[in-house]
Parts: sequence; structure tokens; C-alpha cells
Amino acid sequence: RVWNFSAGPAALPQAVLERAQREMLDWNGSGASVMEQSHRGKRFIEMAARTEEDLRSLLGIPADYAVLFLQGGATQQFAQIPMNLAGEGDSADYLVSGHWSAKAVGEASTYVRVNVAASSAADDYLKLPERSSWQLDPHAAYVHYTPNETIHGVEFHDIPDVGAVPLVADMSSNILSEPLDVSRFGLIYAGAQKNIGPSGLVVMIIRRDLLQRPGRPMARIFRYAEHAANDSMLNTPNTWGWYVAGLTFQWLHEQGGLAAMAERNRAKAALLYQAIDGSGGYYSNPIELGSRSRMNVRFSLYDGALDAAFVAESEAAGLIALKGHKALGGMRASLYNAVPLEAVQALTAFMQDFAQRHG
Ligand code: PLP
Repeated sequence: RVWNFSAGPAALPQAVLERAQREMLDWNGSGASVMEQSHRGKRFIEMAARTEEDLRSLLGIPADYAVLFLQGGATQQFAQIPMNLAGEGDSADYLVSGHWSAKAVGEASTYVRVNVAASSAADDYLKLPERSSWQLDPHAAYVHYTPNETIHGVEFHDIPDVGAVPLVADMSSNILSEPLDVSRFGLIYAGAQKNIGPSGLVVMIIRRDLLQRPGRPMARIFRYAEHAANDSMLNTPNTWGWYVAGLTFQWLHEQGGLAAMAERNRAKAALLYQAIDGSGGYYSNPIELGSRSRMNVRFSLYDGALDAAFVAESEAAGLIALKGHKALGGMRASLYNAVPLEAVQALTAFMQDFAQRHG
């Protein structure tokens, strides 16, 4: 297999894929694939419950939080969050630090009065919004932010202090990358396709008191309280996604949990940033030092005319998906949990070799 630096859908742990392959035709002694059986069956219900337990123990999720396994991607949540958490006439604060938080604002605006409490758009999202510039409203229905911006490559390294207003976080590209104090949040959500499993699944952790909010008029299928009351089986869930998420959570426990992952993720990012910063200007990363992402590392070559050769030669060397997002150009290496240090060592060795050959 190749070393896969895709931003998402992203690499999954080899051991997870191998186990899914072994169990594909005969899951759990059932004689059928997990995809081929009822979500109401005993086997599936047990697996689903164990998966939730494994996530709870990984993150230390307090009992007053519900865990939901939803569908529709993180983008659907951009709309569903204000529908559920904001009433008629309410406003919500948004911290805008890159592409995804800006997109969240766009989708939310249909359902809530959005107050952009801070934005680094004027800085081209090359750093996080200055803390001193934030205009938080103590009466906001919630504060939304994106701890890690997958495209722009900026990351909050501390949880913002927003007082008593519930903090809502889109953790699609950094969930499970390090230990987390869940009690600081009102709601955490993540599309699965980076650090959890297949796309289409969304994992949500929501403080139970927020389930009582009436929100806006909406169909049952959009209401979090209905999903919570029905153990995320209000309709047929993404059974395959749920199962693979469970395998990933077991794998994370086997790896030593999130403290071990945090250590590895720090080492991986440090190695790649060192290779960029120490390249004498051959490679560069434009992000302010304190705002750099551990998960998505952007870099440019000193001469953009070399980009095509870099992409072609890296692919030929078994290092795939390094081409940057089309909006920004350059390169991007995503270093989620399933990417081992060995992959980053292979990348940095390739980068040095490429620089020597195309100096
Ligand atoms: N939020 C972040 C931080 C992302 O990286 C992405 C990209 O996948 C999304 C939201 C959108 O997720 P989805 O495509 O599952 O709607």
C-alpha cells in the first residue's frame, strides 16, 4: 500500500481495513456481512452500544452528554445545529478562521441571526483571529468554531473560553487526535471520513440539557432529541460506518488511547514542519507559528512551476494525495491518526531528495 496523505476521505489504519476485510463475508459468526443485517438485530445493537462505550472511554465523555451517530455529513450539521439550538429571533456567534467555519456561517444564516464574532479573513486565514478582537455576545444561543481548518491548515491549540454560552465545535479533522476535556463543550460534531471511518457518518457529542431546546419548527428527522431518544436508530443508520467507527475506536484503545496518539501526532507534525522550515526556503509554510495545524500541513515549493513534477514524482514514490486544495494551490499533507511516523519520514526524505534533484 501507498502512504496516503489525503485530507479526506483519508487513510484508515491498516489493521482496521484488514479486520473489516476478514469479517466482510461472515461478521461476528452471523454468516453474513454487517452491511446485510438489521440494525434492530441483537448482534448489531450490541456492536453499536460497544462502539459508543469505546468512544466514551477514549474521550472520557461525561454521563450528561449523549453520543449520536448521524448521517448527512458535517455540512448538514452546519444547518441542523441552528435549527436545534436557536429559537426564533436568536443570534449565534461564529468564529471564522478558514474555509469550513465560513461555510458553516453560510448554511446557518437561513436559521439564525449570525454574528461573526471574529474573523481572520482579512489575514487570508494565515493565522487565527486575534483573541483581543473577539466580540462575543453573552446572550448568543451558542458559539460555533472550527478547531482545525482542514483546507487552510490553521488550528486552535486551546479551547476558547466563551463563558456560559454553549461552545459548539466542528471537529471533523481533529477529533480523537489528542485527549479532550469534553465538559468544556455544549456540542462536538465530526464527519467521520478523516479520523473515524467512512464518509456519510457524523459522530456527535451533545450535552443533554441542549436536547431540551425547542429550536425552530422542523421535521422529526432533524431533531437531535429524537435521535437521542431512539439511540440514533430513528431510521436506518449508516450501519457500515458505525461498524468501521467501532473498529477504529478499538484500534485507538490498542494504540494506548489518545495520549499516545497526541504524542505521535506532535512528533509527525514537528518532523514535517522542521523539514519545511529547514529547507533553506525551498519549501515554505505560510501559517503563523502559533496557529499551525498538526493535522493538515500546507507547503509551497519556491517555484510553483515545479508543482506538477513534485506531485507526479511523489506519487511514483508511493506518496499519494499531496496536491493542495484547488482554492489554495501548492501542497498539503494530512497527518491524521492512521498516518504513521514512517510515512512522514518517507515524505521528508522524498522532499530532500526532490530539492537536491531540482535545485
Ligand atoms: N468541516 C470540516 C472541518 C471539514 O474538513 C469538512 C470536510 O470534509 C467538512 C466540514 C465537510 O464535511 P462533509 O463533506 O462530511 O459534509
